[in-house]
Amino acid sequence: MTEYKEIATPSRTREILKKHGFSFKKSLGQNFLTEPNILRKIVETAAVDKQTNVIEVGPGIGALTEQLAMNAAQVLAFEIDDRLIPVLADTLTPYDNITVVHQDVLKADLIGTSQSVFKQELPLKVVANLPYYITTPIMMHFLESDLDVSEMVVMMQKEVADRISAKPGTKAYGSLSIAVQYFMEASIAFIVPKTVFIPQPNVDSAIIKLTKRARPAVEVTNEQAFFKLTKASFQLRRKTLWNNLIHYYGKDEATKAWLTASLTEAEIEPSRRGETLSLEEFARLSNTLEKNVKS
Ligand code: SAM
Repeated sequence: MTEYKEIATPSRTREILKKHGFSFKKSLGQNFLTEPNILRKIVETAAVDKQTNVIEVGPGIGALTEQLAMNAAQVLAFEIDDRLIPVLADTLTPYDNITVVHQDVLKADLIGTSQSVFKQELPLKVVANLPYYITTPIMMHFLESDLDVSEMVVMMQKEVADRISAKPGTKAYGSLSIAVQYFMEASIAFIVPKTVFIPQPNVDSAIIKLTKRARPAVEVTNEQAFFKLTKASFQLRRKTLWNNLIHYYGKDEATKAWLTASLTEAEIEPSRRGETLSLEEFARLSNTLEKNVKS
C-alpha cells in the first residue's frame, strides 16, 4: 500500500465524492473531516488500541472509521444514509475489522447489535464525529442504553460540548450537564476549526472526552425522580428554584408544604436558581423529596 492515501486528505475525499457522485445532505448533518492529523488526534485522545472495540456513529465516507480500524480490535459503525453504504464498501475494502450497519443509530438495539458483531468482550468506546442536529439524543441514547461504554470521545458543536462539561454556577450548566456528569467525567479535549470540514459548518466544534465513573457521581434513591427534578429546575431559566418546582410539581397547598419542608431539610434556599446547585445538592433535595410523603 505504498501509494495509499488516507481517506481524510482533501484530495482523496474529493476524488471519492466525485467517483460516487455524492452530494451532501445538510438535513443529515453531513460535514466530513478532511484533516488526517485531527483524526489521529481523536484516536489518540480515545486511547484506542487492539484491546478496544469501538462504536462509531455516522462514518460518512469512512475517514475516521479507517483510522479507528487501524488501531482498534473491531469497529461497528451505524450509518443512516443508504447512498453511503456502497461508498463505504469501496473505501473500507482494505479493512476486515469493520462492520457497517445501515440504520438510524437512535433506533438501533445497541446491546443486541454489539453482542452479535463483536467477537471478543473487550472495553468498548464510542468514537465519532456526530451529526450535529441530533447530538444530545445520541448522547442520551448511549447513556440510557445500559451498554457498558468505558469512554466516549466525540466531536460536537462547541456550544453543546460547553454545556455537557459545564460546572455549577456557569451559564452553560443545566440538566444536560447533570445527565451526562452523573454517569461520566467530562472534559473538553480540544477545539476543531470549521475549516477542516467539507462543507464547512457554521459553528466551531469541540472534541469532548467522557470517562465512565466507577459509580454515579452522587447517590440517589430514585434515578428517574432525580433526573425529573433536575430537568424541572432548569425549565424556566430566569426563575428561581421555587418557581420552577411549583411550576412542575404543582401549586396546591399540599405540594407547596412538601416542597418547603424538603427544601428546608435539604438546606437549600428556594430563592436560588437551578444553575447554582451542585450535583450533590440536587441529589440531597431529590432524596429528601422521595423520603418525605406529600400529605
Ligand atoms: N465520520 C465522518 C467524518 O468524520 O467525516 C462523517 C461525520 S458527519 C458529521 C455525520 C454522519 O452521520 C453522516 O455520515 C450522516 O449521514 C450520519 N448520520 C446522520 N444521522 C444519523 C443517524 N440518525 N444515525 C446514523 N448516522 C447518521
